[in-house]
Amino acid sequence: MFSESAFQDPRLCRALLARLERALGGRSLRFMEVCGTHTVALFQSGLISMLPASVTHLSGPGCPVCVTHDEEISMILDLAGRERVILATFGDMLRVPGPDGQSLKHAKAGGARVEVVYSPLEALILAKKNPDAVVVFPGIGFETTAPTVAAVLLTARREKIGNFCVLSLHKLVPPALRALLDDIREGETKIDAFLLPGHVSTVIGLAPYAFLAERFRVPAVVGGFEPADILLALCLMAEQARDNAPAVRNAYPRAVNEAGNPRARAVTEQVFAPVDALWRGMGAIPESGLALRPEYADMDALKRFGVARSKSSSPKGCRCGDVLRGRISPPACPLFGKKCLPASPVGPCMVSTEGSCAAWHNYVEYQ
Ligand code: SF4
Repeated sequence: MFSESAFQDPRLCRALLARLERALGGRSLRFMEVCGTHTVALFQSGLISMLPASVTHLSGPGCPVCVTHDEEISMILDLAGRERVILATFGDMLRVPGPDGQSLKHAKAGGARVEVVYSPLEALILAKKNPDAVVVFPGIGFETTAPTVAAVLLTARREKIGNFCVLSLHKLVPPALRALLDDIREGETKIDAFLLPGHVSTVIGLAPYAFLAERFRVPAVVGGFEPADILLALCLMAEQARDNAPAVRNAYPRAVNEAGNPRARAVTEQVFAPVDALWRGMGAIPESGLALRPEYADMDALKRFGVARSKSSSPKGCRCGDVLRGRISPPACPLFGKKCLPASPVGPCMVSTEGSCAAWHNYVEYQ
């Protein structure tokens, strides 16, 4: 077994860069990653500046906080303002601006009971300690997060903890990739290949991505997060493009196996069912979200509190939607680095450390 540092080895990386150049043979490659951890890894390692000039990186809808739609942010703010509710959430969500620039941070300052937790289990413990209130946990994340939230809901049911519920805003990656490719119009940025998310793939395996190669003829490679992992994935993409042989491949076998994790999927399927969901920048995508099944309605914040969806629009001038679709890179947003900064974000892509705008701002010399 190799240690993770073996995948940072400069000689290995140089050899992979040479292999990539050979595979490209002067052709260009526009690849999109759809994982916030990949976004940060590319910038933090400096790999982004070492890639051949003909390789273009596009950052897609891979940051869960960033893809959460304005209407969903409004629902979270609505719940935070309810009597006898404790809104227990991951820290990133605190600063995401909703309509009128209001955020959970403002709601907390105004007296709402908003608590930062590091896991859904911590939110359940909070419920046990506060029997006078109902703890609401916004379930934000992809296929990787859903099993842990499902497991906590099953624990709540087993232990008869009646004052805990979840606002399920989970999203599913493959339907979003399909929607992205379906929607590319004449003259828009073309995606030549996908760097598939390592974490999500540990759960879903490779089969759900098959349509990428079969229907769209786009190479797609699951990659890890060290520089050599990403370079190997890029080599496989470039070699498939060279050979006109698109396929779904796994360049992260030390973490991902082809079948994924059936137990994690089973617990998710026990509690959640696929539903149409709203994505920032992409609108409604069929069967791209997860809702609690009817038998868990008492733990479904949507039903328990009768939360209504209301039309909301993105913060004025924010181009997160275009960033998440790979249509523009963050510095092309007129607010980037001026009105929108990590300390005073206008949009969610600048809030989350995994957001593209924050990654560009934190790691790239763009002036
Ligand atoms: S720089 Fe700020 S305002 Fe512009 S797209 Fe990114 S998050 Fe939105």
